[in-house]
Amino acid sequence: MSQPASSSISAESISELTRDTNYGTWRFQKGWKPLHVVDAEGCWFTDDAGKRYLDMSSQLMCVNLGHKNPRVIESIAEQARELPFMGPAYATNARARLSAKLLELLPAGLEKFFFTTSGTDANEAAFKIARMVTGKNKIISRYRSYHGSTAASIAATGDLRRWAMEPAGKGMGFVFAPETNCYKCPIGHTYPGCNIACADYIDHMIRNEGDVAAVLVEPIVGTNGVLIPPPEYLPKLREICDRHSVLLIADEVMTGWGRTGKWFAVDHWNVKPDILTTAKGITSAYVPLGLCATTKKLADYFEDRYFSHGHTYEAHPITLGPAVATIEEMQRLALVERAAEMEPYLRERLEGLKTKHVSIGDVHGIGLFFAVELVKNRTTKEPFNTMRDKVEGKPLVVDQIAAKMMADGVAQQSWVSHFVIAPPLIVTKEELDFGIDALDRHLAIADALAVQS
Ligand code: PMP
Repeated sequence: MSQPASSSISAESISELTRDTNYGTWRFQKGWKPLHVVDAEGCWFTDDAGKRYLDMSSQLMCVNLGHKNPRVIESIAEQARELPFMGPAYATNARARLSAKLLELLPAGLEKFFFTTSGTDANEAAFKIARMVTGKNKIISRYRSYHGSTAASIAATGDLRRWAMEPAGKGMGFVFAPETNCYKCPIGHTYPGCNIACADYIDHMIRNEGDVAAVLVEPIVGTNGVLIPPPEYLPKLREICDRHSVLLIADEVMTGWGRTGKWFAVDHWNVKPDILTTAKGITSAYVPLGLCATTKKLADYFEDRYFSHGHTYEAHPITLGPAVATIEEMQRLALVERAAEMEPYLRERLEGLKTKHVSIGDVHGIGLFFAVELVKNRTTKEPFNTMRDKVEGKPLVVDQIAAKMMADGVAQQSWVSHFVIAPPLIVTKEELDFGIDALDRHLAIADALAVQS
């Protein structure tokens, strides 16, 4: 490989150099042609040819505020001028201000914070804390879930990405329960007659596994399909955990910060987890911040015991100051309320697509967080592709459609056999229309492959 001096890289070679020198993640390397993006503003980003793209999934469901919010940008510069770095043993203005904001906004009872630099390491902290405090090892997770990419968090992940770590991951103490999916129940029930059998299943697991420290859930499953539990599920799970003295960990890395029309997804059911992890929207991803928040009761365990955890970049001032600015902007612009207000319009538009396209099996979502689930056959609910196809590198129908949408200027996240519609919370109805119209145009690809009803 030739080695250009970094100062003389031509605009044309940016994509190529990136591709040749960087890993493309969660994909086969062959065929990765990273788009060279030079600017982003609001709900849009721009490539090096000046073409604009509507960001229909907020860059991995992160940029809830939209791109280039001037106040957040200024807060990064301000924090750099004030105090770019102090190690984790010190108190800083940014650390105290963010902690005070969190006490105001997090579900009641979550009062002790460990700041990280990603959702993955927020979950790693949660697992360690749960195990250290309870003295137990097992954590019940669910199959259709994603919790991160490092050793324990990928082992906690229910989808097949955990295979990369097996068999080593098998020793990590995670056991799996079926996910809650009322469109296609993995244990064959139909809501509401099921009496929330998926929660009872976890009760059964706790009693039979023994040594269970915690139950780990994405309150609304994110990447794996925006699965909304029935209203009884999380309160019932809370009650089961309490009955067995097992901790409840809510992974709100994707669902936190207004995405669902409340600050946190658990707020929809007024459920208080013992540990809540989050990242992404906490800074709209302008700077990398994750959070593991626990109850004071859990933290008190360490008053007279060694808290055996920490990172050099933990509570990094450059991440904390902009988090305060992000949250203040969300409050100033009333974006959490806005996500809830936009929900009916988004739902109506997507339900409209469902009546038109035989390849749509179901549309589910909340706030500005929806999935459009494609099926080959509406009666059997068989998807076009499975997670296995994805990890084996087979071409996916949803990816073909997303590529066509991209050509039309709409960046749409596709995953296995669904799309995750999750634009920045500042999105307008006109912008939603632009994105959904592109999906509408290209669903013909899937319709042609589906069983006509
Ligand atoms: N948990 C959930 C629910 C997520 O959606 C993600 C990221 N998509 C993670 C954990 C991992 O976060 P990160 O990529 O910031 O490490």
